[in-house]
Amino acid sequence: QAEARWAAVDQYLAGTLVGEDAVLAEGRQAAHEAGLPGIEVSAPQGKFLMLMARLVGARKVLEIGTLGGYSTTWLARGIPDDGEVITCEYEPHHAEVARANLARAGVGGKVSVRVGAALETLPRLEAEEAGPFDLVFIDADKANNRNYVEWALKLARPGTVIIVDNVVRGGAVLRTDLPAGDPEAEAIAGTRGALELLGSDRRLDATAVQTVGAKGWDGFAFAVVK
Ligand code: SAM
Repeated sequence: QAEARWAAVDQYLAGTLVGEDAVLAEGRQAAHEAGLPGIEVSAPQGKFLMLMARLVGARKVLEIGTLGGYSTTWLARGIPDDGEVITCEYEPHHAEVARANLARAGVGGKVSVRVGAALETLPRLEAEEAGPFDLVFIDADKANNRNYVEWALKLARPGTVIIVDNVVRGGAVLRTDLPAGDPEAEAIAGTRGALELLGSDRRLDATAVQTVGAKGWDGFAFAVVK
């Protein structure tokens, strides 16, 4: 019942503040019709990412976890026309759907979708000197969250903002009762590893904010590179 109220308030906030346009809604729908899971950020969260990119004055954004390009579209809207979003996606089918959605949204020209395991793509980005990135959004396989924060740091500069999604997991971040090998236990281990790194690395200043809404009870971690 609480969840239904959170979702209703999210809908109200989306209608009052966010103004998700038809192109974004169509992209979300196209992704669902193509069989992609509905695990993209909510409209208020997407707009929040766009505003973060603006606040940072980002020109180069790195996203890990593209899905159908919903958050990617918001991020691309937050950077200037000569800026770039590089987004990493493991599943070729997701990447294909994302490319079509990004083109439909008119941001295809400033987004590069890199297909493959992000832990293989990230060293390539380093070799290509694709960074430093001004904003990094981490939202892929949660078991690798700590590794992704380490890579974000390698590809950062002082002032870079790092955002990690889904760090609360309906409170499951505190669970210690799951058997090793359980996918959620691995997601929790990766997420706690990321949070502990964000909290302890001297190069970072970090916090996390819990959220409720259409996506249940969860939260984002935020860090700025000193
Ligand atoms: N950021 C997207 C949004 O809000 O619109 C949602 C991303 S979804 C939660 C996670 C995505 O990460 C999925 O598309 C999944 O295929 C991708 N993924 C999973 N493992 C990955 C890996 N090792 N490297 C890159 N992407 C991966």
